[in-house]
Amino acid sequence: MHGASNRHASFPNKLNKIIEQLDFSTIEKNDKVAVKMHLGFEDGYQTIPVFFIRRIVKKIKEAGGWPFVTDNPTAVYNAVDRGYTAETCGCPLIPISGVKDGYVTSKEVNFHNVDTLEMAGVLKDADVLVDVSHVKGHNSCGFGGAIKNIAIGGFAAKTRWNKIHGIEASIPYWDADKCTPEHAKKLVESCPYKQLKYDEEKHKLNLPFGMCNQCDECLDADKDVGCLEYRQEHFALFQELMAISTKNVLDTFDENKRFYLNFLIDIMPWCDCWGIPFPTVVHDIGVLGSRDIVAIEQASLDLIAKEGLIEKNIPPYYKHANLDPKADLHPFQRLQGRFKNPYLAVEYAEKLGLGTRQYELVELLSVEETSKMDPPKGVSERAPSFY
Ligand code: SF4
Repeated sequence: MHGASNRHASFPNKLNKIIEQLDFSTIEKNDKVAVKMHLGFEDGYQTIPVFFIRRIVKKIKEAGGWPFVTDNPTAVYNAVDRGYTAETCGCPLIPISGVKDGYVTSKEVNFHNVDTLEMAGVLKDADVLVDVSHVKGHNSCGFGGAIKNIAIGGFAAKTRWNKIHGIEASIPYWDADKCTPEHAKKLVESCPYKQLKYDEEKHKLNLPFGMCNQCDECLDADKDVGCLEYRQEHFALFQELMAISTKNVLDTFDENKRFYLNFLIDIMPWCDCWGIPFPTVVHDIGVLGSRDIVAIEQASLDLIAKEGLIEKNIPPYYKHANLDPKADLHPFQRLQGRFKNPYLAVEYAEKLGLGTRQYELVELLSVEETSKMDPPKGVSERAPSFY
């Protein structure tokens, strides 16, 4: 947690303690250790500071492992713009699916219209996974944490864009026979977010579920015709497929060689991949560590639910955000829409046997403990100083 006035209780030192508790001793000498993180894009600087990545890398080396930081090829190539280099991280940065996004291993899933997923080859090559996630909101699944970092980030771009994003539309949502071109155009006009698109030549209405916040304005415009519908099931498909893809990645690692660190800082409404800065919508909470991907996600979501939204920071884009305190919604559902329940992926992951939603939250150095510690030393007492 932030806010400690004692060096031993500082956020970086708490990270050290969490890593000690995680116990890297199951990393064997010369194991190749994939530190999977999101390196961000373009102007998006709200990723995990390299300061912390360097610390994690150092601890992996001390355990005898050979760490490398990995993410999608584009993010790796321009990571230097956000301060991530081999020198600053302390280890190489390797594109997760090869230099041309083609180094993959095919995984058969047969889920709705998805037959296979193309898992990143570099993850398959690694002996150990350290899944280091910047926790934030996500426009498709409500929440991005340890599961999303692997489920989406652990696959080649062709899998992400052609298969995972868009799975929602594999259940019919629009009746072409009931809808005239004029009515389709009326529906397009009704969307205040300009998300509905109509191709008149093909007579096809496209609803990009990932960007839809279920404001229902299109449904109101469709009342007399009834050609359009969306349900919880549409949105849930994305989260179910995320749990399936996560399992495919985790199954390639020994149970004792999977570690998770969730950074609940700079909590934005949308993902790091947008490459633009966002206001933070939840106060910083701290960092969580676990060897159970389900437990760490459940705990992260619960802590965010407890903290609540910083309402004055909600960007004007969210004109339909549900801020009614009586509505039983997670803060990310209030922003992204009622059907983007962020707990769904965690529930699916538990059903697939990836972990448990039952957890014990152990706070390292509580506020009570730190208040009993010596106050911080003055500048003159610090040694040595260099000029
Ligand atoms: S529910 Fe709202 S955001 Fe979604 S497509 Fe309809 S009008 Fe657009």
